[in-house]
Amino acid sequence: MSYQHKYVDGTGIHFPLGKVVCIGRNYAEHAKELDNPIPAEPLLFIKPGSCVVPIEGGFSIPTDRGSVHYEAEIVVLIGKPLSKKPDREEVLDAISGFAPGLDLTLRDVQSKLKEKGLPWELAKSFDGAAVVAPFVSPDAFADLTDIPIRLTINGEVRQDGNSSLMLNPIVPIIQHIASHFSLQAGDLIMTGTPAGVGPFSVGDQIVLELPGYSSFESDVR
Ligand code: ZN
Repeated sequence: MSYQHKYVDGTGIHFPLGKVVCIGRNYAEHAKELDNPIPAEPLLFIKPGSCVVPIEGGFSIPTDRGSVHYEAEIVVLIGKPLSKKPDREEVLDAISGFAPGLDLTLRDVQSKLKEKGLPWELAKSFDGAAVVAPFVSPDAFADLTDIPIRLTINGEVRQDGNSSLMLNPIVPIIQHIASHFSLQAGDLIMTGTPAGVGPFSVGDQIVLELPGYSSFESDVR
């Protein structure tokens, strides 16, 4: 797998890396911890493929723009085009893999942008802002509404969630996304973060997991 070469490795198939569609406030407890209202309609934003980096071997964070928050998320790899209003079977057929990932956020920058009602790209789309682990075949997952996600930092569990807690579950949210803009093979979906977000520091040792499916050690540089 080599994100540097803009390819993502699904299940032995290589896709050109596309966009990363992210869902904000998809877990009630996380919306609450940042004093955000739960949105009536799913909150979507897009990170460009250029900000994706692999988790293996460590990853860098910006050190000159305030706090960098981790958001551990279940990442879905799309392997077939989806548009208009795909039905449940089409969505399931288009999913090529699941991985744990980190939606990195310049939280201080984002707070200022939110105050002014400005878009979030400066806080969410910097180089390295999407850290993604290798994907596991969807065949391994019997129930998409029961996928665990966990982040441990320096030996302490900081985020411990499950797709069962999502306000918008995986299949309906992909149907919703595809009803607004087309998804293509090689696009990624970051499905939102459970409670427990906080700042990373350079030197942090992390373990990012879909417990029972995949586990990756890395460090913040
Ligand atoms: Zn997020």
